[in-house]
Amino acid sequence: MTTPGARPIVGIAGTGRMGSAMARAIHRAGLPLVLWNRDPAKAEELAAELGTTTAATPARLAAAADIVLTMLADDEAVAAVYDGQDGLLAGARRGTVLVDLSTVTPAVLGRFAADARAAGVGLLDSPVSGSTATATSGQLTLMVGGDADDLARARPALEPLATSIFHLGPLGTGAAMKLAVNTLIFGLNQAVAEGLVLAERAGIDRVAAYQVLAASAAGAPYLGYKKAAFLDPEATPVAFSLDLAAKDLRLIAALAASVGLSLPQADTNLEVIRRASSDGRGGNDFATVAGELRGLTAHSQEGVR
Ligand code: NAP
Repeated sequence: MTTPGARPIVGIAGTGRMGSAMARAIHRAGLPLVLWNRDPAKAEELAAELGTTTAATPARLAAAADIVLTMLADDEAVAAVYDGQDGLLAGARRGTVLVDLSTVTPAVLGRFAADARAAGVGLLDSPVSGSTATATSGQLTLMVGGDADDLARARPALEPLATSIFHLGPLGTGAAMKLAVNTLIFGLNQAVAEGLVLAERAGIDRVAAYQVLAASAAGAPYLGYKKAAFLDPEATPVAFSLDLAAKDLRLIAALAASVGLSLPQADTNLEVIRRASSDGRGGNDFATVAGELRGLTAHSQEGVR
């Protein structure tokens, strides 16, 4: 453990798009960092950029850190990184807090809760709303499930990432809230694509149409940070892949089914994302659903000529 008043050492497992953006924000806040990634080259490259170190396994990362943040693709990745003899739980010391920020099934961390408690290790789910840009600038919204004491210990690593931190209840409630938030985001993404392509088809310049959508009553922060992706998809780096969007929509469908709900808009969005990511296009950005719509519209018009 660090001595009282010392800066806690933060471990980050998963230096993909979001994990590396979060590492930059935490580094800027002056906290010492240790990194681990399944593909070690990515962690080493980021460590060289930030002047920090890497760990050889998740267990060693947890042994070296006071607070560990995990930012991983999906349920399987979280299970692989927390479990087993090289996993985070095997290496974590009494008093360490493990915080999962990935978008995953609400029950996924629960299977580790008893072992973590027995070892005196804190466990929180804290998925995020935002993007790579808002992660880098420390403007994410965090949705936390778990014990208040664990959250208090994790705060030094979470505060540099976020403008809002909501504590929602026991472990799993953060993950469930994130799926509810994404139900809105997926609806909005599809609505922006449809409104934009409709305006274009009606002869309005794409940039002007986007400006109006962003300034309208439906304008939301999402329209601000997805602007480049909608206006110039070819030249804009991928921020959130269609594969991850499909994963989230499957999680939403499973949560809805488990509580006896039917969500017609989310079901439609999953179908749209499945089409847009077919033929090996799952790595494209989520905003490319607008391009899909342009293509589909052109195709169906050809069909009726
Ligand atoms: P990403 O760039 O694809 O990174 C995924 C990370 O997960 C990489 O570090 C990858 O390691 C790791 N990983 C995948 N499978 C693994 C496994 N089986 N074992 C160990 N590690 C594994 O994805 P991202 O955009 O950063 O997203 C990460 C999470 O944040 C996802 O749950 C996503 O839904 C959520 N999220 C993303 C955004 C966004 O705007 N991108 C916003 C909010 C939430 P390798 O490098 O070795 O492949």
